[in-house]
Amino acid sequence: MPKSAYQPADTNPVTRSSAFYTVRLWSVRHSRGLERVYKFLARIFLQLHPFWKFVGYSRAEKPVVLVEKVIKSFLFDCRMCGQCALSDTGMSCPMNCPKSLRNGPCGGVRANGNCEVEPDMPCVWVQAWKGSRLMQAGDNILRVQPPVNHSYRGSSAWLRATAEAAEARNAETAGASPP
Ligand code: SF4
Repeated sequence: MPKSAYQPADTNPVTRSSAFYTVRLWSVRHSRGLERVYKFLARIFLQLHPFWKFVGYSRAEKPVVLVEKVIKSFLFDCRMCGQCALSDTGMSCPMNCPKSLRNGPCGGVRANGNCEVEPDMPCVWVQAWKGSRLMQAGDNILRVQPPVNHSYRGSSAWLRATAEAAEARNAETAGASPP
C-alpha cells in the first residue's frame, strides 16, 4: 500500500501484560485433559436432556449461562458467542482474535507467533494449532466453521450443543427402528 501522511486520531495499539494471557495459554497446554472433561460434561448434559425439556431449555438458559460464563471466561477468556468451537480449535477461543477469524489465522501473524493487532498477545490460531496437536480429536481443527451468528451472543453454547446432540440422537434412533 502506498504510504501517506494520514494517521488516524486517538488510536493506540491494544497492550496488555503477558500475565493477562497466562490462564488461556495454560488451557491450550492442557487441551487434552480439558477435551476429556468437555466430553464427560457433554455426556452428562445429554443425559439430562429430559430434565432440560421438562424445565424448558429457555428457562434453564439463565442459570446455565451464569455458570458457563464464569468457568469459560476464567479458562478461555470466553466471549460467550453461543456457538462454541473450543473442541475444534485446540481449546483456544477464536473469538479472542481481534478480527474474529474462525477459520485460521490472517496473514499478519508476527515472526514470534504473536498477533499483528495486539503485539503482546500470542495469536489465538497459532495457539489453536498447538492445542489441537495434543488433542485426541485434534484434526477437527481442519473443519470449516460456520460464520458467527451474532443472534446467539450471550446464550449458552452448552445447552445449544446438548439440544442439537439430542436431536441428532433422536433422528438416528428413528432411522434405525423398523418402519
Ligand atoms: S468459541 Fe464462543 S463460546 Fe467458545 S469460548 Fe470462544 S466465545 Fe466462548
